[in-house]
Amino acid sequence: MAFASANQKSPGYSQPANSGEAVSPIRALANKGENASCAECGARPTSVVGLETGGTFACVACAAVYRRLGFRTRSVDRDSWQPAELASLLGNLAVAQELERNLPAFYRRPKPHAVGEADAIRHQFVLAKYRRREFCDPALQAAYHRMGGGGGFTKEGQLWKRSKDSDKYFSRIFELSERDNYLRYFVKDGSAREVKATIPIDRLNVTMVGVAVEGSHPNLMQILYPDQGRTRSLYVYHEQEQEIISWYNAIRGCKYYRYRVSLLSPEELLRLPLTYDFAVCGWLAKTGPNQTEAWQRRWCFLLRRSLFYCAGFMEPRPRGEIWLGQRPAYSISAGPPPGFRKKVKPAGQHVFTLSTPDRDYVFSADSAAACQQWLTAIDNLLDSSPTPQDCLYSMTRSNV
Ligand SMILES: [Zn+2]
Repeated sequence: MAFASANQKSPGYSQPANSGEAVSPIRALANKGENASCAECGARPTSVVGLETGGTFACVACAAVYRRLGFRTRSVDRDSWQPAELASLLGNLAVAQELERNLPAFYRRPKPHAVGEADAIRHQFVLAKYRRREFCDPALQAAYHRMGGGGGFTKEGQLWKRSKDSDKYFSRIFELSERDNYLRYFVKDGSAREVKATIPIDRLNVTMVGVAVEGSHPNLMQILYPDQGRTRSLYVYHEQEQEIISWYNAIRGCKYYRYRVSLLSPEELLRLPLTYDFAVCGWLAKTGPNQTEAWQRRWCFLLRRSLFYCAGFMEPRPRGEIWLGQRPAYSISAGPPPGFRKKVKPAGQHVFTLSTPDRDYVFSADSAAACQQWLTAIDNLLDSSPTPQDCLYSMTRSNV
């Protein structure tokens, strides 16, 4: 791998704080500044070095992607290192200065220690950076066709869209236009094609689903948007991981430019998440408002401050959406509410109660671990106050 510049820092010995023990030169290098955070996702600490990547320090999850792509790796602490090998490592900063010099601001990098993040995001980021070298040369970003004026993107192509009424997928042409603020898709082909739906880009959220549920595709993407006062989800995939991630990033790119024409400062813009992942998702059992109804199995996902519950995985229209406000009006606790009347226990029996000003919602998770995940995610949310961005994806809070 050739680099235009190599800001090589010479490895040296250093003493860990409050300890008389010497650390190895490679550990000292791994602990140093930019190398202490993973070259791809920013996770700390770094424990593996990619050799064909130019000598980048990475976390365990990103190093697994290196190996999947055939890049050799060495452990910081378990392998032995010769001085010449150490000197050949460019380090995270020099590699990023070369290989990320034209990384688009909207391009999704993997998140550190991300729970539930689709593998495709990490895999395609590493592929795009090292194999395709997309972030060095803007001309290589073929997926994002620039149009004249307004920083406009456009993209058109085929995706498999899940039917509203069945498990079947149909081939549909999708079209994205930043300038005109829409994602739309067509039924029928050629000159007979008709627009089936037009979705405003600034009102949609896109998520790489990334969970292995029967009937799902590894490259499955959810597009969630308001439709006639209710939430609608489209589920689409493409056989090629690179192509679905290119759609995902193109939508993020359009959103980015939509926000750029708003009155936000550059600092606010950088802090703004373009899209949201599910904080938690999975099957839960749920009772009705009287708490005596039969337990119903529901596919649930938490997107920002909204807990959506659906009759089935990939249901186009969720059965319900629970807005999560702030304490003390909203609270969550393990177990059923006081005086819970339902006698029949759910399978699993890992019950939690979400109290809102309207009613108590009683859910049951399949395992203690899943129950804890929901409790923690919702508990954290209720401590913070809602932002205008939160309301954007809530159909009950946005007067759609
Ligand atoms: Zn990482």
